[in-house]
Amino acid sequence: MIKATLAKINEWIPNSNVTKEEKTEIHGVSTDTRTIQKGNLFIPLIGENFNGHKFVEQAYEEGAVAALWQRDQTPQPEGVPLVLVDDTLQALQTLSYNYRKSLSIQVVGITGSNGKTTTKDMIAAVASTKYKVLKTRGNLNNHIGLPLTMLELDETIEVAILEMGMSDFGEIDLLSKLGEPDIAVITNIGEAHIQNLGSREGIAKAKFEIVNGLNNNGVFIYEGEEPLLAKLSEGVSFEKHTFGYNKNCDLRPLNVTQTESGTVFSLSTDENVTCHLPVLGKHNVKNALASILVGKALGISAEEAVKGLSQLQLTKMRMEVIETSSGARLINDAYNASPTAMRAALHLLHELSGYNRKIAVLGDMLELGEDEREYHYEVGKSIDKNEVSYVFAYGPLSEEVAKGASDAGVEHVYHFEDKDTLSEQLSYIIKEQDVILFKASRGMKLEQVITALLEKG
Ligand code: ATP
Ligand code: MG
Repeated sequence: MIKATLAKINEWIPNSNVTKEEKTEIHGVSTDTRTIQKGNLFIPLIGENFNGHKFVEQAYEEGAVAALWQRDQTPQPEGVPLVLVDDTLQALQTLSYNYRKSLSIQVVGITGSNGKTTTKDMIAAVASTKYKVLKTRGNLNNHIGLPLTMLELDETIEVAILEMGMSDFGEIDLLSKLGEPDIAVITNIGEAHIQNLGSREGIAKAKFEIVNGLNNNGVFIYEGEEPLLAKLSEGVSFEKHTFGYNKNCDLRPLNVTQTESGTVFSLSTDENVTCHLPVLGKHNVKNALASILVGKALGISAEEAVKGLSQLQLTKMRMEVIETSSGARLINDAYNASPTAMRAALHLLHELSGYNRKIAVLGDMLELGEDEREYHYEVGKSIDKNEVSYVFAYGPLSEEVAKGASDAGVEHVYHFEDKDTLSEQLSYIIKEQDVILFKASRGMKLEQVITALLEKG
């Protein structure tokens, strides 16, 4: 993490001034008094519902040794060292940018509609075979999380892996220009945030902003199955590599087989290299291919990369497999959902074999704009009645999932408006050797159903 004197901080934030004790050394930064560590520089941010400036004095009590202070805020605390700036959010971003520039670190930036966090974890698994790596913690992928991650770097880190999220135009542009990646990845284009971006073309354009900050000698890695990305990348002069299942992709998986606990495949470029990926789902094969291409760009061979991937541990609730005491298998993919991600997860459920019954518990997908009901219906309609025998739909929009599933001929379809009834009904039905997929948007907190089920035993 950042260690610097206030004099140095002052240099890294143009147009700032230090009120006193320039020699004070800060260790790390914090924007939240609840998680502050001794020696931190406190950065008070102004949000819609809060103003961090109110907590500056408390921050000192909790161990901060200095704080930024936005000049238009009053009353300015006395007796403690402050770094005065025009805008604390911008100062945080500029500080992170200049701090990273002072280090020699390769940066990988990742965006895409789905699979950013998963691919980030996979790239970290690959890169760690050769380098000391720092990756975005959890999902801290926005205009605050990304600079905070960059301030966690230090001179021992060789590769930083930064997740870049967005919900509108201009956001990836900002993040990419802050991170200035040496390697940029777009995992895919789906429908998430279509509300703000108008169309899939809009979404692709917004993700494509990641090349705006890409280092001139940088490498651009993207999903080769997506025509919108192929079109956008025609004009760029960076070194480019694509991944996916299509013949035209630079890196493809061969002989993909799902096993009990993961996926096995070999590589179109190195047929003798077999990857044992300890996670389920065809979409995760694509994420793994992306990470192998990033590995190549970092000078890591395919053999080494697959070794790293075999050790992979994903951030929670992404295809997490849980065995119940009664011998059923729960697949917790409740972290988030969009139509693309739903289809990917259902595809996996369709392909699984060796189970008694397959059950899909699907909740609402949020932020899909005016066609939201249609998207939900289509997800339901895409369910294969020969594979899935029960659909439990949860939430107001999922009524359409239930309709679609019924129209698709699924034998047992139920719709619920509350989680308690849902968990209760599920607990009656689930038996040994059943496999149950859970998936919904984050806001639906579908994992609570899993917790309730596990409590019931
Ligand atoms: P967020 O925007 O919330 O940060 P994310 O892009 O980081 O999401 P992950 O958290 O990695 O995405 O995965 C979320 C869900 O998306 C997974 O549970 C999975 O169902 C689905 N998913 C992951 N990778 C892909 C992919 N390549 N294509 C389609 N769906 C995917
Ligand atoms: Mg994420």
